[in-house]
Amino acid sequence: MEQKLSPGIQRYVEKANELGARRAAFRAGIRKLKFDTIAVHGTYGVEEAFASGQGGVIEPIFPSTSQAYRDSDEMEAGLGYLIPTWCYSRIHNPTVFYLEETLALLESYGCEDDASGLCTSSGMSAIKLVVEPLLAKKREGHEEINFVSAAQVYGGTFQLFNVRMRERGAKVRFVAEPWDIEAWRAQVDENTRFLYGEMPSNPQQGCFDVAAVAQLAHNDGIPLIVDATVATPALMRPLEHGADVVVHSLTKTVGAGGFSIGGGIVARHAITSRHLPEEAKADYATWLKLWPFRDAGPCMSANSAFLFLNELRTLRLKIEKFSANTMAVARFLEQHPKVECVDYLGLAHHRQHELASRYLRLVDDGTPTFGHLMSFDIKGSPADTRRFFDALQRIYRATDLGRIKSVATLPAISTHSQQGEEGRKLAGIPPTMVRLCVGGEHPDDVIADLEQALRQI
Ligand SMILES: *Cc1c(COP(=O)(O)O)cnc(C)c1O
Repeated sequence: MEQKLSPGIQRYVEKANELGARRAAFRAGIRKLKFDTIAVHGTYGVEEAFASGQGGVIEPIFPSTSQAYRDSDEMEAGLGYLIPTWCYSRIHNPTVFYLEETLALLESYGCEDDASGLCTSSGMSAIKLVVEPLLAKKREGHEEINFVSAAQVYGGTFQLFNVRMRERGAKVRFVAEPWDIEAWRAQVDENTRFLYGEMPSNPQQGCFDVAAVAQLAHNDGIPLIVDATVATPALMRPLEHGADVVVHSLTKTVGAGGFSIGGGIVARHAITSRHLPEEAKADYATWLKLWPFRDAGPCMSANSAFLFLNELRTLRLKIEKFSANTMAVARFLEQHPKVECVDYLGLAHHRQHELASRYLRLVDDGTPTFGHLMSFDIKGSPADTRRFFDALQRIYRATDLGRIKSVATLPAISTHSQQGEEGRKLAGIPPTMVRLCVGGEHPDDVIADLEQALRQI
């Protein structure tokens, strides 16, 4: 039953609606700007700078855990979600909101539909948060629930899907060849709740046809979720190609400086799902924030949000540079006698090159651009691989990705150690594989480090 609001609360609601309309008009104007302009400014403008930040040019950090209310009416309206409020920083925080808005605007750039964002404590918490409501049981008792995912996903995601989701009765069906649309079609049935893929995947650089898989999902009344951590919105925006939700480990490429763990969710408004309640589908990211996220608590700190925001401002510049450097390093490794093969989407012989060229394009420029992630296999034994790896002098040995500093990993003993030999085989991770993420150094110096380490074999 509709509850009648007291005049005091009513006044707060009216004032909030007025401010909300002003803000919506301002945001609509921002949506028309170019990518770099949105990245630099987000939704923080001159008016807000003077209203809340004493004219500060840069978005302020709000470290406060909670918000004070003018009176009981405002408190009741705020905590009842009748007016926008940040009330308590586990639910909402102004600095985190600047980041959420900027990320949402960048991910929905060039997309007709609008989108909302939600930032979380880590990439894994973002993925867990997005998939769980989709896997809720509709009936009591035994019910078959499955979801379909590309097999080439981040090691943590593989575990979350294969172990944690199975524990709660949802079965993952992995697609071993996600670039083949028929391979997806074969796994989907009436109990499938969503489709999931990484584009491109870490570390195998698996690709899939986002538009075709989104179409397949929608024909079945279910959403497509894409992890676009490696691509970032500077190279690809899955919403534009029909995906419903994008997830990010902001820890990685977006947070290239390597200062904090963080995750991001961007969901288009009115996502497709025949399993979610109507109120959840309308604005999934905001619904997640107000309900499951609030109850579970994986929030991002204001300090982290501030640093991620700062990284977003120069995102396109960095991705362009990392990509050019990675191409130079890939060309060097390709002709080296101690390297068995080089896997980089930018190389013409890569079996996903054509598909990647279609999707990975520098924003507002259109040039196919392939990012900073590559891998190569050492010609030799796992022991030779370790000898090479241990000899690196400037390239850091770290399970990390997308850094301003070049980093290398042996996936078989790090990111993909948990899933065992069988799981690694399914995901295509041999023990001689080296994952390399080329950063912002001059490529000649990265090549020199690789060259001296390869001489140790
Ligand atoms: C690292 C990573 C994740 C997990 O993110 P965290 O921030 O480490 O929790 C998810 N997806 C991809 C592609 C990743 O590389």
